[in-house]
Amino acid sequence: GRKFVLVKPFEGFPRAENVEIVEEVVPPLKDGEYLCRTVFQSVDPYQRVFPMEIGETIVGYQVAMIIDSKTPKFPIGKYIIGYYGWKTHHIYNETSISGLNLHPLLLPDEYEDISVQDFIGVMGIPGLSAYVGLFKICQPRPGETIVISAAAGAVGNLVGQMAKIQGCTVLGVVGSDHKGQWIKNVLGFDGYINYKEGNLPTELKELAPNGVDMYFDNVGGEISSQIIKQMTMFGRIAVCGGISTYNDVEDSKASTIQADIVRNSLKMIGFRIPDYEDEFLDIMKIIAPSVREGKLKAMATITKGFERTFQAFCAMLRGENIGKAIVQL
Ligand code: NDP
Repeated sequence: GRKFVLVKPFEGFPRAENVEIVEEVVPPLKDGEYLCRTVFQSVDPYQRVFPMEIGETIVGYQVAMIIDSKTPKFPIGKYIIGYYGWKTHHIYNETSISGLNLHPLLLPDEYEDISVQDFIGVMGIPGLSAYVGLFKICQPRPGETIVISAAAGAVGNLVGQMAKIQGCTVLGVVGSDHKGQWIKNVLGFDGYINYKEGNLPTELKELAPNGVDMYFDNVGGEISSQIIKQMTMFGRIAVCGGISTYNDVEDSKASTIQADIVRNSLKMIGFRIPDYEDEFLDIMKIIAPSVREGKLKAMATITKGFERTFQAFCAMLRGENIGKAIVQL
């Protein structure tokens, strides 16, 4: 097998010298163990800021096939969602917990008709994140307006599609007109703002003249401060992530938003998907029919080849992905 290890801590935007591919011998299985081979590897923003030691495998989750097994609980030929990092092969035992504090999840047979690739995206962590942030925190009502940042990305595009199904007015903030046209014309968003070219406060005022009821925050920083200034009374903010500052060398000096939060009695709640592990299977059950009916489109940007995982990771941080950034082995 092969794995990516951290050889130099990230500082600023990731560079090739930060990681190295290392060969690894896969030992014979002991009783209770099973061997997984990665089929799709996820590259994600949090990998940039996750605490990792030198020599450690880069953290990450994947869809993997069980190719050898000494436990009836995890039979050969089945798929799991693993959380074992950027590796081609991994041995788990029945009770393993990974670096992300999550148990490997055996994909239930009832989803055999859904592409296994989707368990990296709409049926996996991005879908769960979109669902938790939108329904448990924002609690959308028909006719309300939601703004989503990083709206053409893995989580953001799904939040928008789910909010459209709920009858909301959905606006996305994106880094290019190409992405904006995609979320509008293909996914049915009501509008978009290109934060690199446009004037966010002015355009948002035009698109949401009555204000923003919900904000799904993927980016933090200045973009979020500008959106939060235009929220309605009792607005809700789901804080999913803050990618705009992940590559900063110093702590960012984003303007403070506390006054805006107090002024309108807003509710701003962060969430971590590992805390919802017990609900994964229930939420998958809720999402699956929309995936089968094609109401939720599962878009992905796929890079082929394990050795190109790091390139795919950097491309995602630069915003080159539409939908979920995935590496196919
Ligand atoms: P995406 O697929 O959205 O990829 C990242 C996107 O971020 C890029 O495509 C880019 O799009 C945008 N971006 C990059 N740099 C900046 C910047 N400086 N300012 C604004 N946007 C930027 O990733 P995910 O959907 O996987 O993740 C989105 C967010 O959700 C991240 O913050 C991540 O950490 C978080 N997350 C949190 C989870 C949780 O448990 N809370 C679980 C999963 C994700 P563009 O071209 O539009 O700039």
